[in-house]
Amino acid sequence: MKHSQPPRRDFLRYMGTLALSAPAVAAANDQDKVTFPPIYDKSEKPEQTEPPADPWNERVGVAIVGLGRISVNEMLPAFAQSKHAKPVALVTGDRAKGLKIAHQYNIPEANVLDYRDFEKLAQIPDVQAVYIALPNGMHAEYTTRAARAGKHVLCEKPMANSVAECQQMIDACKKAGKKLMIAYRSQYEPMDRALAKMVREKKLGALKEFSSVNSQDMGDPQHWRLKRKLAGGGALPDVGLYCLNAARFLSGEEPSEVIGNTWSTPGDPRFREVEESCQFILRFPSGFMASCSTSYAAHKSQFFRLNGAEAWAEMDPAYAYHGLKLKVTRVVDGKEQASDIQIEEKNQFAAEMDHFAQCVRQDKEPHTPGEEGLQDQRIMEAIYESARKGRPVKLSPPQHTRGPEPQDQQGG
Ligand code: NAD
Repeated sequence: MKHSQPPRRDFLRYMGTLALSAPAVAAANDQDKVTFPPIYDKSEKPEQTEPPADPWNERVGVAIVGLGRISVNEMLPAFAQSKHAKPVALVTGDRAKGLKIAHQYNIPEANVLDYRDFEKLAQIPDVQAVYIALPNGMHAEYTTRAARAGKHVLCEKPMANSVAECQQMIDACKKAGKKLMIAYRSQYEPMDRALAKMVREKKLGALKEFSSVNSQDMGDPQHWRLKRKLAGGGALPDVGLYCLNAARFLSGEEPSEVIGNTWSTPGDPRFREVEESCQFILRFPSGFMASCSTSYAAHKSQFFRLNGAEAWAEMDPAYAYHGLKLKVTRVVDGKEQASDIQIEEKNQFAAEMDHFAQCVRQDKEPHTPGEEGLQDQRIMEAIYESARKGRPVKLSPPQHTRGPEPQDQQGG
């Protein structure tokens, strides 16, 4: 079957998209958008409408590299809610799995490649970009190979295992004239974005403290996440990174000094190569402080509290794929008042993929480019250094971190 422009019936069948309405699939821009007269009185909030989706043949074609949990359980299903991207190829070491998934998503069998044939992506014009969802230690190699094959890159977090690898990825994409974006989904998530806006508008007053935990209890000691070469580290680069990145993007500041501590329970077979837990403090030039803790051996716990001089905001759970809850507390008329902020949930994977696709199509810098991942890696290396040496480690300001803010509508 010709796959670049499937009939709408096939698209709906294969993508299983209850979320996509028929007019949304065909609409190209605002004048093509199907609109309806209002039916509610002024007392109701205005009906929310989504921006129109791109026609199928105009969407950015993406090869999914690595068919593990994040690709199969999250990103591939999220294409059903994407407006600007489509999956067109798969790279996997397991051809049977690849074919099964290819049939689900209407991807031609010829576009299911083995890692050894990765360079063949260059000969598939439908593939404009790759989404790299491999173990962390493989991100640098596959980003570099993708750039050389002429493809834009959306790479999962953490960007890589070292500052040197991050720089290699940035240089390779720059040399090839291709986009590089790191998949920091929280930065495209509406509740986090609303909070970052509140901070920018000084709604919490001057920021003072950020406290956060992101922990989970790991099982299989043989999993790649517990192998140094493939994971780069333990809890810190995998889940502690969310706390670190949130402290930076919510405050809009960069730390000038870090203090770190790591711990692994002696004899625990899971932590022979990587740390079990890490506690770290980030000092920012304004006096704002972040105090974070992450563990691979504690029951799942994901939250943060951001404390300003005039109010605090709390997300619990934070960092999760679904069910985030945001509360803001301040004094109103002499009484402490807590408000639950209600913001409609959006698929974070579709939002980040659509931002990436729009950057590719409009030749814009992504909001979370390689430099954003590089800065987190610099800070994580400083945290490990501080833990090793038992003293604070200073950090110079980065040259560059984030690109322009995404628009608030999905895909902007
Ligand atoms: P996973 O173990 O489920 O999948 C990894 C995939 O890589 C598998 O398909 C595996 O076969 C393949 N692979 C290829 N070579 C391999 C090798 N030498 N050793 C092990 N696996 C190999 O992992 P995952 O949870 O999908 O994580 C993949 C990436 O996505 C990681 O970088 C991770 O940090 C990131 N991730 C991001 C999020 C997020 O919310 N953004 C969530 C989970 C994972």
